[in-house]
Amino acid sequence: MTNKFIYLDNASNCRMRKEVIKLYKKILVKKNYSNPLSFHTYGRKSKNYIEISREKISNIINCDPSEIFFTSGGTEGNIFIIKYIVKYLNIKYIITSKLEHLSVLNTIISIKKKKKIKVFFIKNNNLGILNLKHLYKILKKIKKKKKNILVSIMYVNNEIGNINDINKIGYICKKNNSFFHSDLVQFIGHFKLNVKNLLCDFFTSSAHKFYGPLGIGFIYIKKNINDKLNLNKINNIILENKNLYGILGLYKALEISNNLFLKEKKKILKLKKYCIFLLKKNFFNIKFNGLSNNLKKSSFYILNIRLPIIDDLLHIKLDLKNIMISKSSSCNFINQSHVLKNILNKKSIRNTTSIRISFSIFNNIIDIELFIYELKKIIYNNSNYLIKIN
Ligand SMILES: *Cc1c(COP(=O)(O)O)cnc(C)c1O
Repeated sequence: MTNKFIYLDNASNCRMRKEVIKLYKKILVKKNYSNPLSFHTYGRKSKNYIEISREKISNIINCDPSEIFFTSGGTEGNIFIIKYIVKYLNIKYIITSKLEHLSVLNTIISIKKKKKIKVFFIKNNNLGILNLKHLYKILKKIKKKKKNILVSIMYVNNEIGNINDINKIGYICKKNNSFFHSDLVQFIGHFKLNVKNLLCDFFTSSAHKFYGPLGIGFIYIKKNINDKLNLNKINNIILENKNLYGILGLYKALEISNNLFLKEKKKILKLKKYCIFLLKKNFFNIKFNGLSNNLKKSSFYILNIRLPIIDDLLHIKLDLKNIMISKSSSCNFINQSHVLKNILNKKSIRNTTSIRISFSIFNNIIDIELFIYELKKIIYNNSNYLIKIN
C-alpha cells in the first residue's frame, strides 16, 4: 500500500491552480473586500473587480460581457437556464438526450408536467453516439406546430467523455428555428472556445472543472434573445452570484487554461494513452464505455472502463488504497449510472463493473502505474475473474 494519495476523479472536481490560490490570497490580504452591491468605496471596488473579470472572460471566449451571468456552478446554471428559457420564451417542446447531466434531465422532467411541455429524447447507440437524423426528424415534425422549441445537448459527456457534434446540432437547430442550449461544463477550460463560431443561444460552465474554485460558474445568454423578445432585462430576473473571490478565480483559471491548452492537453493525453495501454495489457477482456478509448472522439482526460467482474465495492476498495476514482459518475453515487444504463444492455450492466478515471495536469506516470498495480491486486483476487481467465 502506498501512502501517496492518487486523485483520478478530475471530471468531478479539479484541484485549483496555484496561480488561482495566489490571487485569492492577494485579494484577501489586501482587504479589498466588501459587498459588491454596497455603494461605498470598498463596495465599488468589489463591483469593479467583478466587471473586469466579466470583461476578461468575454474577451477570452469572444462574446459580449453583457451575455455572461455568474452562477454558483453548473448545476445552478443548468437549472436556472432551462427554467428561464421555458418560462420566458414560452417553450412547448424540448428535445434532449438520455445521456445529459442529471441537473439538465431532472430539471426538464420536473417542469414537464407543470408547464405541459412535450419532451423528446434523441436516440443513441451503444457507444453513446447521438442519432442526429433522429433529431432532424423530430424537429421537422414539431416545427409545423409553430410553437417554440428548445434543444438541450451537452458538448462533452462527463461520464463517457464522448464529444458530441455540437456544430452540426447547432446548425440543425438554426435551420429549424429551435433555441439551443448546451452544457459546456466539461468543455470550457479544456478546449478552445470561440462563442462566435458556436451556434448556441445558451450555455453553462463551471470553474471547478477547470482548476478554478468550487461554487462558481457562469451561463451565457445570447444578446439578441434578450433584445428580440423584449423581455425585462435578465438582470432583473437573476440575482446574480456576487462571489467576488470565486469570480476572480474563475477568470484567472480560464485565462491560464486558455494560454496552456495545447501543452496541457498533450501532457494529459499521454497519460490517458499510457493508462489504456496498461489496462489492455493487464486485464483480460476489459472494455471501454462509450467512445472513451477513441482518442479523437472523446475528451483527453476522461476514461470509462468496464471490467468482467461483479464488484459493487470496487471504488471503495481502491479508495482504501488511497486511489480516488469515480463509480462512473459522482453525481450518481448510489444508483447505477443513467448514462451506462442507456448505452449498455441489461446483461452487461449486471455482469460487469464500470469505473471512470479522469486525469489532470497534476497527475503523472507514477499515478497511473500505482493505480494499475492496486487495481490488479483487487481484480486478480476476485474469484469470478479467475474463473473467466482460466
Ligand atoms: C459537474 C457537472 C455539472 C455540475 O456542475 P457543478 O458546478 O458541480 O454544479 C453539470 N454538467 C456537467 C456535464 C458536469 O460534469
